[in-house]
Amino acid sequence: MKYKKKYNFSAGPGMLPQDALDAASEAVLDYENNGMSILEMSHRSQSVIDLMNNTTSLARELLSIPDNFHILWLQGGASTQFSMIPMNLLSDEQTADYTDTGLWADKAIDEAKAFGLVNVASSTKEFIYNHINKDLEQSPKAIYLHITSNNTIYGTQWKSFPNTLNPNGFIVADMSSDIFSRKIDFNSFGLIYAGAQKNMGPAGVTMVIIRDNILGKINRHIPTMFDYNTHINKKSAFNTPPVSAIFVVNRTLSWLKELGGVDIIEDRNKIKSEKLYQEIERNSIFKCPVNKEDRSQMNVPFIFTEKRDENKFLQFCADRGLMTLKGHRSVGGFRASIYNAMPLEGIDALVAAMQDYESLHSK
Ligand code: PMP
Repeated sequence: MKYKKKYNFSAGPGMLPQDALDAASEAVLDYENNGMSILEMSHRSQSVIDLMNNTTSLARELLSIPDNFHILWLQGGASTQFSMIPMNLLSDEQTADYTDTGLWADKAIDEAKAFGLVNVASSTKEFIYNHINKDLEQSPKAIYLHITSNNTIYGTQWKSFPNTLNPNGFIVADMSSDIFSRKIDFNSFGLIYAGAQKNMGPAGVTMVIIRDNILGKINRHIPTMFDYNTHINKKSAFNTPPVSAIFVVNRTLSWLKELGGVDIIEDRNKIKSEKLYQEIERNSIFKCPVNKEDRSQMNVPFIFTEKRDENKFLQFCADRGLMTLKGHRSVGGFRASIYNAMPLEGIDALVAAMQDYESLHSK
């Protein structure tokens, strides 16, 4: 390697596997001996059609996605899905349940209100989202129940998923920050979506997994680009797809498969996060603001136990190559995002930095 690699604890875009970065660097110059860059390749070329099909198969295999679910590769980020979901699934007079577990959930709620009736089934806003309220007040006829499986900013995560009160209802989940980090039982889900830029690849592509029998039930006109059926019918190539981003997703998923798949990464993520939470508990100058049972395996927020200069600790870490540990601007403190590609060595380096900082600064 020609440069010194640092550990990137950013919440997104997150750290990617070195294999995927090496492959991307090669493909930017020449994609599979085509004499053309991946950036120049037509989405109608056989190589790119194969790439997209292969990426879909990899995703299906890794998450064991049943055949009655379509897999789409779209643009516009998870934020576009906040509108696209109710636009496609919820009529004006129908109700959808939403759980308010953080800023992203809140944004999803706001967007849904433009398309139908929204019942906020639970909220922890008044506690600055330091836990997940699993005691839901669902509406009996809700078409779907929307959850954010992992709350990137606050570091909370649904460990198991709720049941819908309506027996014909289904769960819609924003899994932007924990997709491919753990196994999913698809039985109760109708739709899962995730921006790629945390556990899957670079920004620019969003994965949508959608059950085939939930569409076509509403009466409104849906603009072509916002209609899931457009993208299902054209295999995510109705218009020019973000081919280079999909390429990196492909190589990230290939890396995951080689590693042993989602079972293996789930175990690793557990070990990584437990190690970090244990140090936060042990360390006299740090604490975690999140309720124990809801602590995320992907985003680990921590704060000083008393007033100290946060920038000094951030600089102390940066000097050791531990980057982007600043907490989200809405909550402050620190946040270590430890997605799939963050190796255990990165956690060890952070734990060592926290211990050394404690030795230097505790009385
Ligand atoms: N949902 C969650 C849980 C997120 O963490 C983010 C991004 N940080 C978003 C949605 C928004 O994603 P995008 O930037 O892809 O629109």
